[in-house]
Amino acid sequence: MNAPLPLTDTQLREVQALDAAHFLHPFTDHQALARRGARLITHAHGVHIWDARGQRIIDAMSGLWCVNVGYGRQALADAAYRQMMTLPYYNAFFQTTTEPAVRLAARLCELAPPVGGRAFTHVFFTSSGSEANDTNVRLVRRYWDLMGQPQRKIIISRRNAYHGSTVAAASLSGMAAMHAQGDLPIPGIVHIEQPHYWALRHEGETPADFGRRAARWLEDKILELGPERVAAFIGEPVQGAGGVIIPPETYWPEIQRIVERYGILFISDEVICAFGRLGHWFAYERFGTQPDLVTFAKGVTSGYVPLGGVLVNERIARVLIERGGEFNHGYTYSGHPVACAVALANLDILEAEALPQRVRDDTGPYLARRFAELTDHPLVGVAESCGFVAGLMLVRDKATLQPWPEAWEVGMICRAHCFDSGVVMRAVGDRMIIAPPLVMTRADIDAMIACIRTALDKTW
Ligand code: PLP
Repeated sequence: MNAPLPLTDTQLREVQALDAAHFLHPFTDHQALARRGARLITHAHGVHIWDARGQRIIDAMSGLWCVNVGYGRQALADAAYRQMMTLPYYNAFFQTTTEPAVRLAARLCELAPPVGGRAFTHVFFTSSGSEANDTNVRLVRRYWDLMGQPQRKIIISRRNAYHGSTVAAASLSGMAAMHAQGDLPIPGIVHIEQPHYWALRHEGETPADFGRRAARWLEDKILELGPERVAAFIGEPVQGAGGVIIPPETYWPEIQRIVERYGILFISDEVICAFGRLGHWFAYERFGTQPDLVTFAKGVTSGYVPLGGVLVNERIARVLIERGGEFNHGYTYSGHPVACAVALANLDILEAEALPQRVRDDTGPYLARRFAELTDHPLVGVAESCGFVAGLMLVRDKATLQPWPEAWEVGMICRAHCFDSGVVMRAVGDRMIIAPPLVMTRADIDAMIACIRTALDKTW
């Protein structure tokens, strides 16, 4: 690793001033940024990042849920270098192709187990999860047009879901703050409630009963709209950016029953949850669902280069290819050879180090145990995890676990203490969340829990 020297105060202030003056950041309050100066991250290795002052921090968020194999992987840099020197770019439009894209598409189809007797036979590549979900909107509407049911246009999503930030993906997302800017959602996208047991349970209701009731909100919405108008349902297996909302085990089987009953397409948005994060290559394996389309991004390259896409099952692929002619959709970087070469090397690492299995059988259960211990802290009402995503619910009253309106402010304070204590954690509403690199060891987990506990103590 080429570790740069820590910056002097003057050097750091110069970068922060340029940052505030010129860089319009995503999802950032720029007045606060200008006041405080952004934290400058300079390098990273394994599960750690370093800031410009030389502080080492455990990255319990894997960047933005993406650095699955950890930082500093020579094999990924080598794959990018080799591909750049051989063929840095060529497009996949108009009857041309490149070998890394072909090999990656085939490899992903091989990794994704068939469901409901149908294989995933094709992949559409994008550069991001947002573009992949935009692709889904076009794919499902095109499919129904070709099936002679053009009135099937509506896609049902869930409140507090995150499916991306382009206009269509932000519409699929169920974030009120995003919809408030720019007249979203676009027509044809509607939302139902999320399966958030702690926020929406009835008094005395078990998680199992709540899971079934929450799934039936989908059936209610389909019947309200008219089943013949509904094209698809989209959901994240575990809602990530919404605060690591883990649905009860009864939820997904009931959703599966409903989508089958009404013959609507099912999109599993696995941008966070695939590539080992839930202890499986794909999250639909964890919950036993049978999606028609699977959105992926992030972990496919462990974030080393941008790449996303959609896995398409044979039912849809056959209709598109045999009846569809040209699908008028695509991106300059669909199937970018460097991104695909890095993805192949990344899958090699995930496979060679058996990281999905390790999360499922060893480090995931260990994280769950250590994380659950945090419920002895006065600020923590609930601590739950699924594989390598986990969330703490901050409460004022541990006996009732009643919603706490000020919790988001407490979360922001806690997040700052986390950074100072040596761990990156994210605050979302009343929840503090993590999604560590899959290479995290038991010793790393112990160190991370110690930092989180210190931060909680400072917040309390
Ligand atoms: N879908 C999910 C579930 C996500 O979590 C994200 C990003 O966090 C996206 C889609 C959008 O991906 P991207 O930021 O690569 O556009």
